[in-house]
Amino acid sequence: SPEVNGAAPANGPSTSANGQTPAPSLPQLQVIDDNQQFNAATSDAIANTFRLSEAGFDYNVLAVFGSQSTGKSTLLNKLFGTGFAVMDSAQRRQTTKGIWLSRPVSHPLLIMDVEGADGRERGEQQDFERRTALFSLAVAEVVVVNMWEHQVGLYQGANMGLLKTVFDVNVQLFAARGSPKTLLVFVIRDHLGVTPLDALKRTLMDDLERIWEGLNKPPAVGEAPLEEFFDLDFIGLPHKYNAPEAFDTACDNLRQRFLEPSTPGFLFKKTYHKKLPPADGFPHYAKVIWEKILTAKDLDLPTQQQLLAQYRCDEIAATARKEFGEKAADWTGKVEGGKVVETLGKDMGVTKTGSLATYDASASRYHPSVYQRKRLELVDALDAQCKVLYVKQLQNLAKRALQQFKQELQSRLAAARSDFSENLKEAENGVLEAFEKSSEASKLAETDWSHEDILSAVREDIRELADNAKKDELERTVTGAEKRIANEISETVISLLNKVKDGMWADLWQAFRRISSTELEKLDQKATNFDVPHDEAKALQARLQNSAWEALRYKVLEETSDARILQRLRQQFELRFRYDAKGIPRVWKPEDDIDGAYEKAKHETEGLVDFLGRIDISLEEVAAFFSDLTIEESSLQLLSLARLDDIRERFARDIETLYTDAKRSVINMTAV
Ligand code: GDP
Ligand code: MG
Repeated sequence: SPEVNGAAPANGPSTSANGQTPAPSLPQLQVIDDNQQFNAATSDAIANTFRLSEAGFDYNVLAVFGSQSTGKSTLLNKLFGTGFAVMDSAQRRQTTKGIWLSRPVSHPLLIMDVEGADGRERGEQQDFERRTALFSLAVAEVVVVNMWEHQVGLYQGANMGLLKTVFDVNVQLFAARGSPKTLLVFVIRDHLGVTPLDALKRTLMDDLERIWEGLNKPPAVGEAPLEEFFDLDFIGLPHKYNAPEAFDTACDNLRQRFLEPSTPGFLFKKTYHKKLPPADGFPHYAKVIWEKILTAKDLDLPTQQQLLAQYRCDEIAATARKEFGEKAADWTGKVEGGKVVETLGKDMGVTKTGSLATYDASASRYHPSVYQRKRLELVDALDAQCKVLYVKQLQNLAKRALQQFKQELQSRLAAARSDFSENLKEAENGVLEAFEKSSEASKLAETDWSHEDILSAVREDIRELADNAKKDELERTVTGAEKRIANEISETVISLLNKVKDGMWADLWQAFRRISSTELEKLDQKATNFDVPHDEAKALQARLQNSAWEALRYKVLEETSDARILQRLRQQFELRFRYDAKGIPRVWKPEDDIDGAYEKAKHETEGLVDFLGRIDISLEEVAAFFSDLTIEESSLQLLSLARLDDIRERFARDIETLYTDAKRSVINMTAV
């Protein structure tokens, strides 16, 4: 199964062929396994094991081909410190097929160890070889073809099949003009030196030309020579075991040529670069290419690059959005919880800029139009997220503004200043100004968001609050005034009627005018203060006038019930009959004229009844005083003449006992 090996693999170099303990090996990944599956862990390995994600375009790819057990893996491990599995010489067990991936610690270089089947096998295995070759050539700039010296010149040998495949797939991939060349490096192993490298090279070149000529080439390639598609290099390596020092030296030189750009004959020339995506996009690109190869689809690399750009830009944008979400979590929570975040606009702006920077850092390496298009989408998405917060914040600000205004309103009502209305206007302006300022500060830069709508809603709510508060306060003022008027009038009516006499109604009228004027003036003052419209103020005045008048009538009617009148008449009579002019109770003596006194007191008291038939105030005067009220003559009437007669009669009966009491007191006195 595919895996990333951090240590030496099970069938790897637990001990080297000569029994020495090998250097610690680097991690490796089986990118294509022996069942031709692409390893899902590739993306993670590129990022975290090989740490290449940040490399951008600054990385190279090398692939190594060759028959089984020709020392490919041994060579790669020697050159790059990698830990590719090496065939155990004691057991001669074949290493796992597929493509293995590793990188030297020191250099951003991806190395692909292609472990194929033996080219002599047919069918399935040949397909696999072709597929791994396609895959390798699509991405690798330099391909090492590894062979024993004694394999050179064996035109029918396994290598010839492999080379034919390499040429074939290369033509398939890069037939178009301007396609990058591939460098083929022939590494000839166990080069004894008896046959000079030049001679081996010529033999190989002859074979390569023959293969090239025999190749079924597409029309675009035509008669173009091999050299238009490949650069060739030939390297002889001494026998690893028979000439270890020479082998080491040769390996050192070769390593330099792979890793050090300043070395003469440096192998990774820019022109070989397969226009690969940035390193972070390599895993997805490799995966899609492999899938295309498996389904035998046309491998159109530029199209794949374009698709990859979209895929990667989407992925990078998602990362940027996630980053935004994490950073925004704090204030998002607050705003959603109904709080006002004073620095919201700035916070959102800074975080948005940060997220875009994250996106730009990786995505800008991809196809410019894709990068730009996805960037606009990202900006839209971030703006939309911010807009939701902005709207919520405005709602919170509106709520706060209303609360502030309510407080201002209360304290101004409490202060009861004479310039209440103006003062309230100031409070309103202050609250609205603060709202606008905070709203402006909540806006994301470079947007046309507006708080005008919610501002006018807040303004309306404030007006309504103020109007209602004024209405309530006026209502309280009127009811308070009504109560005070009713109380004072009540007392006045009682005390005047207690001393019923001529001019009593004039006194009441005077008192009434004094009492209601005070309250009407206070109400008028308040209405002016509150900027109450004229007709509303008039209505309030009329209402208070009416209740004042009603209070007077009510009390007068109450106090002129038969019982109350009789009670008062009796009091008045007693004052006259039972007390002397100094107010001292009389003690009747036999010589006193009880009858005369009785008649006089009775007559005088009866005369008072005449004052009770009508509230004796001139209707014109009432009308003049009540500018907003019409008073009917009938409302001045109290008791009909018949009822007055009746009362006189009842009064006469009522006081009879007093007469007999007086008479009796004299008899008693004489009897003593
Ligand atoms: P691969 O299958 O091509 O990767 O070959 P390996 O690296 O697994 O090596 C196969 C066998 O060849 C192992 O037993 C190695 O010890 C041996 N070997 C490796 N390098 C050399 C070399 O330069 N000369 C010889 N004669 N044997 C080697
Ligand atoms: Mg190997």
